[in-house]
Amino acid sequence: MLDVHAYAAPSATAPLEPTTITRRDVGPREVLIEIQYAGICHSDIHTARGEWGPVTYPIVVGHEIAGVVAEVGSDVDKHTVGDRVGVGCMVDSCRECDSCRNGLEQYCLNGNIGTYGGVGRDGEPTAGGYSTHIVVDQDFVLRIPEGIELDVAAPLLCAGVTLYSPLNHWNAGPGKKVAIIGLGGLGHMGVKIAHAMGAEVTVLSQSLKKQEDGLRLGADHYFATSDPDTFEQLAGRFDLIVNTVSANLDLDAYMGLLAVDGTLVEVGAPEHPMSVKAFSLLPGRRSLSGSSIGGIPETQEMLDFCAQHGLGAEVEVISADKINEAWDRVVASDVRYRFVIDTSTLG
Ligand code: NAP
Ligand code: ZN
Repeated sequence: MLDVHAYAAPSATAPLEPTTITRRDVGPREVLIEIQYAGICHSDIHTARGEWGPVTYPIVVGHEIAGVVAEVGSDVDKHTVGDRVGVGCMVDSCRECDSCRNGLEQYCLNGNIGTYGGVGRDGEPTAGGYSTHIVVDQDFVLRIPEGIELDVAAPLLCAGVTLYSPLNHWNAGPGKKVAIIGLGGLGHMGVKIAHAMGAEVTVLSQSLKKQEDGLRLGADHYFATSDPDTFEQLAGRFDLIVNTVSANLDLDAYMGLLAVDGTLVEVGAPEHPMSVKAFSLLPGRRSLSGSSIGGIPETQEMLDFCAQHGLGAEVEVISADKINEAWDRVVASDVRYRFVIDTSTLG
């Protein structure tokens, strides 16, 4: 067992604070990872603040983990000490259901085991990446290709794959008009990946404040959704819209921007339900769908794709004492475009 430094939320309302947690001994098929960077995902905040339902406190969140293998179990054959690796939102699944057999562990019919807030196979609660080390089954550990630095790789493990998966599934590519709603952690990866896939990319942001960045990241067009003209100008335009917004939106207004047979994919996960009118779906045979992270094979595919196209996240690396401030800034949409914790500063 290893006692390691971490940062935990003590309750739904109190600031995060330094703590120590215990990591289990490395099992035969497990690896010990020395975490170097942990991204701050808005899901960490929704979870710790109890916005998605009750959680057990204190909770150590973080599911955008990049580091180096420090120890391997006796039967480990996929990783060796010194490998650059990542862990995303899951650390295990049943491996037997149709979803798991198809590499869709995120849709495990028996429920995948979350990197934090879950219960591991050892019966102990799982604790995430705001810590210096983690022990994970080798099958849920991803290879980070040479050519992507670990700080800019960390956010790919959640934000990257959460956008890659729907863009891939709905065939973003040449000739396709794709819109990304919200230029935050997920959204900025969506712009980069959709552009690299060859799609024509439009950002739909609350204002034009980040327009220059959006165009630099690969967007062809950028519109402010605070301007009602935007919805008239873009009516019927898009084959695919991916909504990354962490708060409720007027979905009816956005459905009107879809072309015939277009799809709006919800990846944002706001606390409260959203309504949609039947008459936003009927005209143009429009679809409203959702997508959750990506499976393990697809996550590796995404990392390889990002390496091939020279893509990483735009990050602001922070020390542990800035985590609470960073959370406030994420909630205020004041992030360009992912905060990443340097875990050597945890304690
Ligand atoms: P983020 O960095 O905070 O980005 C969200 C963006 O949404 C903001 O930057 C802002 O972009 C826009 N936004 C925020 N509040 C808004 C409001 N009231 N009205 C309109 N736009 C608003 O968050 P994130 O880490 O990218 O996560 C986004 C959401 O996805 C969260 O709900 C998170 O839990 C969820 N998520 C889902 C999955 C999945 O598997 N489906 C995975 C990870 C995260 P602009 O300033 O450009 O408007
Ligand atoms: Zn996440």
